[in-house]
Amino acid sequence: MAADCTVKARPAHRIVRIAEDGRPRIEAYRCENCGAVTDSQTMACRACASRKPPASFGVGRTGKLWSWSVVHRSYPGVAVPFISVIVDLDDGLTLKGTLRGVDTSGLRQGLPVRLVFDDAGGAHDKEGVPYVGFHFVPQGDA
Ligand SMILES: [Zn+2]
Repeated sequence: MAADCTVKARPAHRIVRIAEDGRPRIEAYRCENCGAVTDSQTMACRACASRKPPASFGVGRTGKLWSWSVVHRSYPGVAVPFISVIVDLDDGLTLKGTLRGVDTSGLRQGLPVRLVFDDAGGAHDKEGVPYVGFHFVPQGDA
């Protein structure tokens, strides 16, 4: 990467933001009236119809497993099986992702998990700038 290049990484998902210092975060929006959280900016709250636009914030990295599916159907370049999950983050946002580092026998609703940013499978753009993705691991794991 060229020394004058200011792009250190690109988000692999629309809700991932890369800060000036290169650190990734998940951005969400919270209604100041009712506290509802969404993953996209809206002009009014979808839950309470408040016309004050929900404010953005960076979500924390902890949450609980809500639902999962063990995927055995392959796609070129994707190793199977993997665990597709829906996680309720402690900050109120619900995300879909992949859970790693747990045997399927350890899956249970409410399992504490942690969000981990990763290199999106080693993907990079045509200029060699890496993408940043995310997955989940059980809390306490690296
Ligand atoms: Zn609201």
